[in-house]
Amino acid sequence: MIKLKSGKIAVVGAGLSGAVIGRELAEAGHQVEVFDTRDHIAGNCHTERDKETGVMVHVYGPHIFHTDDREVWDYVNRFERFMPYRNRVKTTSKGQVYSLPINLHTINQFFGKSLRPDEARAFIEEQSDTTIADPKTFEEQALRFIGRELYQAFFEGYTEKQWGCSPAELPASILKRLPVRFNYDDNYFFHTYQGMPENGYTVMVGRILDHPNITVHLQTRFHRDWSGDFTQTFYSGPLDGYFDYEYGRLGYRTLDFERFTYEGDYQGCAVMNYGDASVPYTRITEHKHFSPWEEHSGSVCYREYARACGPDDIPYYPIRLVEDKTQLAQYLARAAQEPFVTFVGRLGTYRYLDMDVTIREALDAARDFLSGSAARASD
Ligand code: UDP
Repeated sequence: MIKLKSGKIAVVGAGLSGAVIGRELAEAGHQVEVFDTRDHIAGNCHTERDKETGVMVHVYGPHIFHTDDREVWDYVNRFERFMPYRNRVKTTSKGQVYSLPINLHTINQFFGKSLRPDEARAFIEEQSDTTIADPKTFEEQALRFIGRELYQAFFEGYTEKQWGCSPAELPASILKRLPVRFNYDDNYFFHTYQGMPENGYTVMVGRILDHPNITVHLQTRFHRDWSGDFTQTFYSGPLDGYFDYEYGRLGYRTLDFERFTYEGDYQGCAVMNYGDASVPYTRITEHKHFSPWEEHSGSVCYREYARACGPDDIPYYPIRLVEDKTQLAQYLARAAQEPFVTFVGRLGTYRYLDMDVTIREALDAARDFLSGSAARASD
């Protein structure tokens, strides 16, 4: 075990949460030790150049930065130049390619019509199940707001593949991530700021961590009993893992990527979803479209397959079904008894977090700690 002096701060995980918290505390004068089990920083937003094609690859799947939070936007732009990027997703269903999120083009193409916005709104209202007053599940949300045909073509099969269960078991909040538009705006996100880091996320996270008060230990698994050596530990690893899975394992989906290369442009866009249940993968990512300002003749693509996360797999999406929530409540109660450990981030809080929210919460956690320690010092 690494011998550490007291008075230091431990940050477990060198992803966005850990890097931002580490930086804030380092700038406030604390000595910070960052631990990560992997051999690279940046967690699941890690990017690296593909050796064969030179294309910048989102190693753990597509990450597009989008936010309404001006402070978070300014924060990331302090460490890396963000290039203009609009996420325009396509989806293939029964041999046809459509635009996502569902917009006027999708509706007109799917139903073979040329409706104007108000007509489309009225038409979709006719398709939808208005008897569902308060949609609770993903399926109810879809049936209420887009109707059965669009739901089955674009969401039912995809969601079964992605989450490994029926959309009737999933919360409506997952579908609420996606807008439905009655115009031709095909921007996947509705946030004010959107962009892609010019040299990838790992370069950006590297700059966040580049501070004389920060030491990063890669390939180092943090042990719970090390916490005693630190003034405070910020833990962004899996919450259940911190407590040695005492109440069982929280459910996650993991992803497998099947890499292939292509000379030229394979699909003409960064992300092509596959709505049909008969296609085993959920989507294909063609990474060079994430960096449209770069030129590459070759192309590298990842077919993405989702499955249940086993003990040795990388956790991606927290499932948060009923039994997970029961276990989560037990872990949160245990976590509340650890005043010197702050649980942060997607894995530390077992929530489906976008990158901007992760950074916002990390800034807030660091500030809470700093204002608390300032208050203690003046007591
Ligand atoms: N979804 C779907 N079909 C699609 C795209 C998304 O059914 O073509 C569902 C799926 O359940 C997904 C959710 O909508 O988990 C939210 O989509 P989002 O693009 O936000 O997922 P992420 O990028 O986080 O995987």
